[in-house]
Amino acid sequence: MSVSQFKSAMECEARMIAELKGEFTRPQSTALLVGSYLHAAIESDEAFNRFVEENHKWIFGSRGAKYKDFEKADDMITTIKNDRFCQFALQGEKEVIYTGELFGVPWKIKVDNINHEKCYFSDLKSTQELRKRYWSEKYSTWVSFVQAYDYVLQMWVYREIIYQNTGRYYEPYILAVTKENPPDKAGLHFDHSRFDFEREYVQQMLPSIIEAKQGKKEPHRCEKCEYCRSTKVLKGTFEIEFLLD
Ligand SMILES: [Zn+2]
Repeated sequence: MSVSQFKSAMECEARMIAELKGEFTRPQSTALLVGSYLHAAIESDEAFNRFVEENHKWIFGSRGAKYKDFEKADDMITTIKNDRFCQFALQGEKEVIYTGELFGVPWKIKVDNINHEKCYFSDLKSTQELRKRYWSEKYSTWVSFVQAYDYVLQMWVYREIIYQNTGRYYEPYILAVTKENPPDKAGLHFDHSRFDFEREYVQQMLPSIIEAKQGKKEPHRCEKCEYCRSTKVLKGTFEIEFLLD
């Protein structure tokens, strides 16, 4: 299991299984590509140059200029590189892989930045605005982008797996940079009490995903995503009340 697989299954178990089987591929998302572009820029010049070379056709238009999203990403990179605190918080080993076990299931994580000397790990996240609100079914309330994109869950999983490998609980940080012009930025830490909820949530949701992966049950269909829409077969009607479920 990985955090991205878990998150994908929370959105739609059926789509996640179809992706694993190679029966469905999500279209390349610009937001994901921009995220990787930012990470490569922070990692090293070599990693960045390699990334730009490999993804040239997505980054540059036919006239040789960068697409708007990547011009904006360049602003975000400058914002981070010019901030001494950001540079300090991003010091450490990059893209480190660990494996471990949670609730009897093997997990693999890739930590963007880990500092063993000071026992912390950090991740750069881009978002629209720092204070934008999102309605969350998971938390049954309005939340920030951090909960909306399950970054608290990610930080909890990483913290546990790193503990299993090092014997110490490392402190997680998020460096957030916005897509605004000019970009906003923030360093974020987590009240540890938030992690209990994520532990219980993973424990509660994991068995269903594992059963679906092992073919012991039909994966749950969200009936809303691109995969479910494209494979939907109607069997009847439902009362209009359920349209807003
Ligand atoms: Zn679905």
